[in-house]
Amino acid sequence: MKKTVQFSSAPVTFYFDVAFAKLRDVLDPASAIILTDENIFSKHKKYLKEFQVIVMPAGEANKTQKTVDHIILQLIEAGADRNTTLIGLGGGVVTDITGYVAGIYMRGISFGFVPTTILAMVDAAIGGKNGIDVGVYKNIAGLIRQPSFIWYDYNLLSTLPNEEWINGFAEVIKHACIKDRKMFVALQQQKLSFWKRDRVSLAKLIRQNVDIKVKVVQQDEFEKADRKLLNFGHTFGHAIENLYGIPHGHSISIGMGIACKISEKLAGFKETESILQLLKQYGLPPSFAFDGGATMKVMQADKKKQGQAIHFILLEKIGKALIKPVSFADLSEFTA
Ligand code: ADP
Ligand code: ZN
Repeated sequence: MKKTVQFSSAPVTFYFDVAFAKLRDVLDPASAIILTDENIFSKHKKYLKEFQVIVMPAGEANKTQKTVDHIILQLIEAGADRNTTLIGLGGGVVTDITGYVAGIYMRGISFGFVPTTILAMVDAAIGGKNGIDVGVYKNIAGLIRQPSFIWYDYNLLSTLPNEEWINGFAEVIKHACIKDRKMFVALQQQKLSFWKRDRVSLAKLIRQNVDIKVKVVQQDEFEKADRKLLNFGHTFGHAIENLYGIPHGHSISIGMGIACKISEKLAGFKETESILQLLKQYGLPPSFAFDGGATMKVMQADKKKQGQAIHFILLEKIGKALIKPVSFADLSEFTA
């Protein structure tokens, strides 16, 4: 199924539930180059025969300028020009770096995504945020630019490790917390194994999550206001992720746990237990003993910081989030 969504900067065409092999029906493999990582390449190379492929090392630790330089040199070698489309086949690391490289190579070439993780399907591939990490600072260098297409082939998930399913469901739970109480209840009624088994329900759940993210980004592509809601759990989450090297989903799960406690204090939130319970149900950690001082220091460089306060996403109730400036002095209470 094909659907074109209009963002304020550009349109994006979504292809849902279509085999990867059909990509050649909409795009000439001779004018495209695929960027993927070594794990995905080793598992799915049979689909890639017709394409020139650049393979990067897997993992967030490689989402760096060094990898970007390496990719650019390979693009030059492959003869990529302004008419080349760069296709990111992979999880959030691959899609983030694909969009970034495509944004700067020859001052910008077109690009598309074939997400292969739950996280990338429901979150990272959507919205046009592309970038890399510098030191401990996640996504500190980047740009907002939309891919021309996003291609959903759920069969690619057949090789996804369980740990990565768990990570992806952290973002699904995040969407439910900030925007969709009904989806929260649906998640409560199932376990991860159900979604892994039931393709039809999974496809529906992914579509619901795509719709949530698309709607928020459509209203505020350049994150002046409501797009910030998608950062629920991410302020503490990113800091903890980068300090301890914990996977993104686990880190934002911990971040959501902290955000619930802050919400109790500053927004009258009363449903912390339901959220912590749901996180546990999906194999996610609701808390973690972190170094408060070090975490605060990383948060001082957060993009959401303004002066001595940080724009924090809080919950009023499940399904309803709000943005509130919280001072570092107030936050220190939760890092003690
Ligand atoms: P995220 O989408 O969580 O940001 P990454 O790009 O870091 O994820 O991918 C997470 C890990 O899962 C990486 O090691 C990557 O190589 C691997 N991976 C991604 N998609 C698949 C897949 N469909 N099958 C097997 N491994 C995959
Ligand atoms: Zn996230």
